[in-house]
Amino acid sequence: MTLYIDHEVCLKDPCCPAAEVCSTKALVYDSVENRLFFKADLCNGCGQCVRKCAYNALALFETADDLTAFLTKITKAREIFTSKFISLLGLKEQP
Ligand code: SF4
Ligand code: SF4
Repeated sequence: MTLYIDHEVCLKDPCCPAAEVCSTKALVYDSVENRLFFKADLCNGCGQCVRKCAYNALALFETADDLTAFLTKITKAREIFTSKFISLLGLKEQP
């Protein structure tokens, strides 16, 4: 199992409910680095953390390939959205 953490969406709460619900300590909040860390070897794939995060900052994947496919998809979606938004505003895209 691998866990995607969207660090742009995450509120970086030191009392992160998703980390607190993780019984294996696969997901931990590091207050020095001020961010969440995931240890794949400790994860049992229960999905509790994903359900606990109210901001959809977490997503669980069976394999690294599944995560890569997901990241490719959201990168493309963001590019399309940005391009359409720029076009709607009548602005030119930066080269
Ligand atoms: S609950 Fe979600 S948004 Fe809040 S700190 Fe944890 S992972 Fe980040
Ligand atoms: S899926 Fe379960 S074991 Fe894995 S990080 Fe989330 S809560 Fe922890």
